[in-house]
Amino acid sequence: MTKLLEVTDLSKIFGGSVRAVDGVSFSLGERETLALVGESGCGKSTVSRLILRLTDPTAGVIRFEGQDMARMSQRALKAIRRDIQFVFQDPFSSLDPRMTAGDIVTEPLSIHGMVKGARQRRETAETLLRAVGLSAKHVDNWPRQFSGGQRQRLGIIRAFALGPRLIVADEPVSALDVSVRSQVINILQDMQEEKGTAYLFISHDMATVKHIADRVAVMYLGKIVELAPKASFFSAPRHPYSEALLSAVPASHPQKRRKRILLQGDPPSPIRIPPGCRFHTRCPIAQDVCRREEPALAQVADNHLAACHFAQAWPIASRLGEAMAPEPLAELSN
Ligand code: SF4
Repeated sequence: MTKLLEVTDLSKIFGGSVRAVDGVSFSLGERETLALVGESGCGKSTVSRLILRLTDPTAGVIRFEGQDMARMSQRALKAIRRDIQFVFQDPFSSLDPRMTAGDIVTEPLSIHGMVKGARQRRETAETLLRAVGLSAKHVDNWPRQFSGGQRQRLGIIRAFALGPRLIVADEPVSALDVSVRSQVINILQDMQEEKGTAYLFISHDMATVKHIADRVAVMYLGKIVELAPKASFFSAPRHPYSEALLSAVPASHPQKRRKRILLQGDPPSPIRIPPGCRFHTRCPIAQDVCRREEPALAQVADNHLAACHFAQAWPIASRLGEAMAPEPLAELSN
């Protein structure tokens, strides 16, 4: 698959000591959806802001179509901003209350001189509104006159207006009622199918991720701890943190119910990251080696990476049920 986005060793330290993002690497192919998941504060939203260049990285490289975004001229960056658009969580605060729906969805086109004159702008706005299931009659409505789901449709079509190659969607459905979430997800999928756009999809909702993602990256305390194709991730997660996240998702069938893994406490502060495996303070199967040595993000199955000394000792939940301590990887491979 052609790499559209390549992120290498990306880090962001705020205020000299808060390691919000700590050496993150991943790539994203054309038309691909990579879900970035984890608890709030894990660094996933900071990654999205770094890719959108809303904040500068402390270290690392972000390449878009092979070009290093950190070293781009302002002119090149402006051109790339047409190719990378965003959809944010709260459609209400991200829409200007003083602009009509028509002005909102055509604003990016106006900025880039791609629509001229009131008539062309209105016709374009009506076409865009219809593309996300809104009516052309909505063109003169204000954001407050729309429901949450309709507002997010406006946000989506505004993001698509310039024909971007990549959309960074940060929790795009989590502020919506459950009843409209699937409609908005379906719109995102239909638009992707039609336009061939790639998504970096930030979410904490595993059910939504299961529906939309091609691959899943799990972040914990600023690092990716698991990165895998969706099927492999949901059927055989290799990191205890991922398994805990998945164990909280209600199963569609009682026989498929996972053993619930309850994590103790909150994630540690990104100012004081624990030594060794950063998850060891909450991991239900942590061993001495975990407190000493940081596990590398290593391949454990086809295209499936995990950062755990015991990633081969899957499944962890059943081992917990048997009160078995896993053997270290080196011993297992003997
Ligand atoms: Fe848990 Fe140890 Fe694996 Fe870290 S390395 S996730 S502490 S078992």
